[in-house]
Amino acid sequence: MTQQAGLESMEKLVSLCKRRGLIFQSSEIYGGINGFWDYGPYGVALRRAVEQLWWRCMVEEREDVVGLDSTVICHPRVWEASGHLAQFSDQMVDCRKCRKRYRLDQMEDVGRCAACGSTELTEPRDFNLMMKTFVGPVFDEDHAAWLRAETCQPIFVDYELIRHSSRQKPPFGIAQIGKAFRNEINPRFFTFRSREFVQMEMEFFCREDESMRWFDYWRGQRWAFYTERLGVDADRLRIHEHETLAHYAKAALDIEFAFPFGWGEIEGVHHRGTWDLTRHEEYSGRDMRYLDQETGERFHPTVVETSCGLDRICLMLLANGYQEDSAETRKAGRDEDTRVVLRLPAKVAPVQAAVLPLSRKLAEPARKLFDDLRFRWRTEYDETGSIGKRYRRQDEIGTPYCITYDFDSENDQAATIRDRDRMTQERVGLEQIPAWLEQRC
Ligand code: ATP
Repeated sequence: MTQQAGLESMEKLVSLCKRRGLIFQSSEIYGGINGFWDYGPYGVALRRAVEQLWWRCMVEEREDVVGLDSTVICHPRVWEASGHLAQFSDQMVDCRKCRKRYRLDQMEDVGRCAACGSTELTEPRDFNLMMKTFVGPVFDEDHAAWLRAETCQPIFVDYELIRHSSRQKPPFGIAQIGKAFRNEINPRFFTFRSREFVQMEMEFFCREDESMRWFDYWRGQRWAFYTERLGVDADRLRIHEHETLAHYAKAALDIEFAFPFGWGEIEGVHHRGTWDLTRHEEYSGRDMRYLDQETGERFHPTVVETSCGLDRICLMLLANGYQEDSAETRKAGRDEDTRVVLRLPAKVAPVQAAVLPLSRKLAEPARKLFDDLRFRWRTEYDETGSIGKRYRRQDEIGTPYCITYDFDSENDQAATIRDRDRMTQERVGLEQIPAWLEQRC
């Protein structure tokens, strides 16, 4: 896809997301605020479904990973120890002419402003991405605090407490889902680079001599999450291994997706050595070593991390699923009509099944069917407008199955299920519908 086509396709996606209430600018009536996005009814349903799937697969299905939900604001020493206050920065460059601001490593033509072409740029300077606030009534440096820039630091801080209380011992992991904040210099590509976003991270504590085996294991697990659990086309995904590593790390890689604007990271799998635990030990004075009761050995566990952004995964699913087609809707003598379809996986679609009575006269029995389904699946009932328009609406929000209750349904106790992707229509007995959905969602 050319760069222009990619940007146009992103624009279409952004406009669909707004039109259908999936994702839109925060504080839109005031002109929006750059880098902040709200998720409307369908967007929040998608985001929660992906989040639940991650939690299920990373925590609930396993015996060796436990959960945490920590605060966004931690003791300021946490960010000194982690190195964020000193080092968590990007290099920023300003155009002296049009005042546009760039992140140096994202400039296509370093030394030239992409907006106005000027070469009068400021010298690159460090810009710390941590968002600052104050705790308590006095707004001075003694009361300064920071919104977490990543969800993993509280995991390291709470590590000993969690290990004890959950009776875990290495190898084991701690997972957390939550908001992270970064004062990004240049938020862009819709939700891809936001200033407030959700991370889903898991820190796995193991022995140093087993750490590379665990690194490979988690790489495989995370790849399978995208290709198997979420059904993303493997040829739109790739692994990018880091060539330069942090001094404490043995390996690092990014899982990237081919977004319409180019390849973009959705997840990092990182070997973090013993860096975080030893730093927190140094700054807090607490012993972070693990005592192996059997051998009497004391050691700092080595950490392998999996770190992904929920918003980027949702954006990937939207971009992967967005399609326009015309063939099925073309009618003789009419202009070609475009059908917009979001091919979201049934597992995470905001609405998994829509119940549509063919006529309002059928509302009562159709509502009964809806009531039977909605406690198990994300289901919507819609009786307004022509059936064609209702199908279109469901296609645009990514509903995989539309169940049409028609005038024959009373007699044959069956309804027609339309498959969004295959465009097939299948007659299924009302009593069999739950089992039919169970198999597919
Ligand atoms: P990038 O290089 O894109 O800035 P990063 O390497 O700084 O990302 P990490 O610090 O490894 O990212 O964060 C882990 C994950 O958190 C990323 O893979 C991404 O999915 C998500 N993430 C990071 N920054 C943002 C952001 N500004 N907006 C949305 N998601 C983000």
